[in-house]
Amino acid sequence: ATPTSIMVGTGRAAEMGVLFRKGDALQMLQETTVVAVDKTGTLTEGRPELTDLVVAQGLDEDTVLRLVAAVEATSEHPIATAIVRAAEKRGLDLPKPEDFKSITGYGVQAAVEGHSILIGADRLMEREGIDISALSDHGASLAAKGRTPLYAAIDGTAAAAIAVADPIKPSTPEAIEALHALGLKVAMITGDNRATANAIAAQLGIDTVVAEVLPEGKVAALEKLRVNGGKLAFVGDGINDAPALAAADVGIAIGTGTDVAIEAADVVLMSGDLIGVVNAFDISQRTIRNIR
Ligand code: ADP
Ligand code: MG
Repeated sequence: ATPTSIMVGTGRAAEMGVLFRKGDALQMLQETTVVAVDKTGTLTEGRPELTDLVVAQGLDEDTVLRLVAAVEATSEHPIATAIVRAAEKRGLDLPKPEDFKSITGYGVQAAVEGHSILIGADRLMEREGIDISALSDHGASLAAKGRTPLYAAIDGTAAAAIAVADPIKPSTPEAIEALHALGLKVAMITGDNRATANAIAAQLGIDTVVAEVLPEGKVAALEKLRVNGGKLAFVGDGINDAPALAAADVGIAIGTGTDVAIEAADVVLMSGDLIGVVNAFDISQRTIRNIR
């Protein structure tokens, strides 16, 4: 690629809201065979809503939701925000939690009004030795619908299955179709429940799913997707995505994402969706082809 054609290509890209921070990314995109995408905030809106609350026998929904939301009010995870919003909608007052602890990739815990409250993924309950068998069928059927199942425990006993759903961005299906039309494989990397991730991937026609990935495991998950010979692109938006953006051959940050992600990326999209990724590939193809 001549410096002039790269300049023309990156200039044309900028007009389309695709900022190339590194010139060789245009060439790298031409050699890319797999596009790995972070789920939350990239494929989806990143703004889940509480959709289901199933409480254990003898318990009352508002009582459980009030205690759980009191704990989540201290967490900044989008799941926490969804639960707190639902509690506020029901007009529940949220008491102040004590000894709050966030267990990254698992969930949260705290004491509320003398009760020990735990909320998070099934793997959190397993880790803490809590029997969720009375509620896990509910969780499984919610996950099959693409919702994220969570469990709450009060004083060491399973109290509820809760689900949140994060809407898919309207442009995501057509963007994935366009990436497939360009001959690319599309993979999804997420910390979310495996069954939930599989349901969403099936809906979108995504080729490969790597789920239940802990934040520190994202780079290893990405490397597993590498196909011999081809280059690997990663698209993400969050602080957690920065190491994977740096590790990929082409790191593509969604412009509405965090500064840390943008700093780590080779390409930054001004738009908040995957259509920008399609545009980046289009421009790279046209630029590199013109040269040859
Ligand atoms: P992602 O960014 O893909 O959602 P995370 O590592 O942030 O991945 O979260 C992984 C899982 O950990 C979530 O799907 C959820 O089950 C659980 N989790 C994390 N934070 C919370 C929280 N504040 N409340 C309940 N569950 C949580
Ligand atoms: Mg994300």
